[in-house]
Amino acid sequence: MMRMEYKIGDIVRTKKQHPCGSKLWEITRVGVDFKLKCLGCGHMITVERPKALKMITKKIEDNKEDK
Ligand SMILES: [Zn+2]
Repeated sequence: MMRMEYKIGDIVRTKKQHPCGSKLWEITRVGVDFKLKCLGCGHMITVERPKALKMITKKIEDNKEDK
């Protein structure tokens, strides 16, 4: 089992796409709630952590970390 760690600034992909057509989000807050900003339209959502962890299918690695 793999445990993902998320931090502010991470780009993640979600199962469902936003109405604007994008599936990519930037994490702007982590904690009890996650705040995600849609990269397609800039819409922000706040989701409880467990829910956010379920929605997110993968983290887009765009830098040195390679895992
Ligand atoms: Zn959107």
